[in-house]
Amino acid sequence: MDELDKWFSGLFGKNSDSKNQNFKSPAKTNFPQNNRQQPKQVFSKQQSAQKSVPAKTGSPQQDDKQQPSHPANKSHHGEHRPQGQQRSQGHHQGQHPHGQQHPHGQHPHGQQHAKRAQHGRGQHFKRQSHPAKQTAQPAPQPKPTPIIKGKVKIIPLGGLDEVGKNMMLVEYENDIIIIDMGLEFPSEDLLGIDYVIPDITYLENNRHRIRGVVITHGHLDHIGGIPYILPKLDFPPVYGTKLTIGLITKRCEEFNQQKTAKLHTINPDVPIRLGNFLINFFRVNHSIPDAVGIVVDTPIGKIIDTGDFKFDATPPRNQAPADLAKIEKLGEQNVLALFCESTNALKPGHSASEAKVGEVLDSIIGKTKGRIIIASFSSQIGRIQIIIDSAIKNNRKVYVGGRSMRENIDIAMRLGYIDAKKGYIHDLRQYKKNPDHESLILTTGSQGEAVSALSRIANGEHPHLQVKKGDTIILSSSPIVGNERAIHTVINKLSLLGADVIHNDLMDVHTSGHGKQDELARMISYIKPEYLVPIHGEYYMRMGLAKLAMEKCGIPESNIIMLKNGDVLLGERGRIYKSDEVAETKYILIDGSGEGKVGSQVQMDREIMSQNGALVVLLYVSRKGKNITRDPDVVTRGFIYMHESEEITQEIIRIAVDAYKRIREKNPGANRKDIKKYVRQTIDRFTHERLERRPLIIPLIIEG
Ligand SMILES: [Zn+2]
Ligand SMILES: [Zn+2]
Repeated sequence: MDELDKWFSGLFGKNSDSKNQNFKSPAKTNFPQNNRQQPKQVFSKQQSAQKSVPAKTGSPQQDDKQQPSHPANKSHHGEHRPQGQQRSQGHHQGQHPHGQQHPHGQHPHGQQHAKRAQHGRGQHFKRQSHPAKQTAQPAPQPKPTPIIKGKVKIIPLGGLDEVGKNMMLVEYENDIIIIDMGLEFPSEDLLGIDYVIPDITYLENNRHRIRGVVITHGHLDHIGGIPYILPKLDFPPVYGTKLTIGLITKRCEEFNQQKTAKLHTINPDVPIRLGNFLINFFRVNHSIPDAVGIVVDTPIGKIIDTGDFKFDATPPRNQAPADLAKIEKLGEQNVLALFCESTNALKPGHSASEAKVGEVLDSIIGKTKGRIIIASFSSQIGRIQIIIDSAIKNNRKVYVGGRSMRENIDIAMRLGYIDAKKGYIHDLRQYKKNPDHESLILTTGSQGEAVSALSRIANGEHPHLQVKKGDTIILSSSPIVGNERAIHTVINKLSLLGADVIHNDLMDVHTSGHGKQDELARMISYIKPEYLVPIHGEYYMRMGLAKLAMEKCGIPESNIIMLKNGDVLLGERGRIYKSDEVAETKYILIDGSGEGKVGSQVQMDREIMSQNGALVVLLYVSRKGKNITRDPDVVTRGFIYMHESEEITQEIIRIAVDAYKRIREKNPGANRKDIKKYVRQTIDRFTHERLERRPLIIPLIIEG
């Protein structure tokens, strides 16, 4: 253990030892030992914490403003999540991404979190991460960036090198507008982190210049950052279409900001003026209704952000087609720069119409004799309308499961984006004895999310619905990269229960919300911009758009600008170019209780450890054969008092051994890194579910 202690000391800093104050060992009475029957809640703390923060203008976290900077850590991105969707329920929109309420009072940290939120989480981070800078200095005042006369400045703060957290600012002298304010769901190596939002240091420093926030559409990768960011910018007015504002309103309510947030519904046909900018809109099609592209008229020329789009000649009812005439007209107006989304830039052809998907779904619903269960994204309002129409036509009542699905249907019905004959839409919680052939269940969980209604149904844990032979289950979605395994598990379980499962590999029960090459080329050719800036996507997707624009639309290479988050573009009449200035783009990580700026993995590890402690599992395996030779050792710091919880240690040992064996059995080719990752995740799940703690978990494999 000596070596290990030394190693621990290295991790924690010189003064670390088992009594290190950084670790708040929970009193043993805090263990929710009997908590297993409670609803499993992966991301829960923040809602309660956030709700406990009195909403007022001027953030309670203002002391967080001028954090020392750290090198950006870009290593967290491994995954591509098209459409900005993610593996946990509810990325897509509107709803609180967590699905369920946390059982308040059961949470060992509830109080602590609430308190921290009130005192400003940033302080907490500073204290933990920068012991050298603890001296009580007054928070530095914002330093406005010098005004560049006569030039437009454009800075993407997020949305490049990733799919998620879209946000861009356009500045002209004393005026700034912001386009979109998204969040991103982190990759798995960010243990204990729930979301990532864009770095807004630049905006905080220039907050007095902000004239407004304009939103393209209501997906979380475009609106999810709003409740976190607005308070830090003194609540600038937010503008969006009717449904978009409806969804934002819902989110702001969850954060108690309904009175302070200034939300304005725009009519896409009526321009708005924000400072020096005149803003026009054009309707586009997307996988959520009411999406628009944004035209910013600046004193030096027009700048356009397409938002997410596709062209669908036959969109679902209650949705307008894209404003093709308006878009074509922009081609005659000397557009200086087009910021165009790139999600499907590598996919040839044209995206399928939502109407096509509707036909397929309608024919399945019409032919099926037994009960039907359909899982889709809760933001697929148009698709939901199609399903409801088909259900009613076939005399089936629709039972809605999953909180986000219920909430979004409610918002959409109130705002006129879904309509249905009275008496046909019900809450799944009221589902009892309706005949199978007259029932259609509509639910979330198409990504295999652990906390979703569909997963509970597949696990036989849903209180109102048991799957049986004769049921038909449709996953009207496509797997997002990284979710495949979870989805396959759900499909497998449902099949085992006797259901007939239909997914996109079998029939066309889904279409993308992002235009493919034909549509992207059309957009660029209509608008005929002087410059093209590919946005919304990983580098390779954006490169795909650049290539397409050169080959199909005649945009010269010299006029295509590839950017990184934080790059600063300067524009003057007839020309835009990259400047030497770079805006900060650190990762702003939101975990259960608030947020902090995290510049490096080390810092983050320390942060996780400081809150939840650390747990090292030493797995002893034979050099040959790599079989477990003896029981693993478990060493913890700041996690639990091990001698008081022999039972938990034993359980962790058993789980570690099982996980090790399982991964080697399932995937004989797994390398050390894969094995460790799997062991870590398995233990993480256990500690989180059982103890509601997320320590830093470090599996070590020792051969000998
Ligand atoms: Zn998006
Ligand atoms: Zn979108």
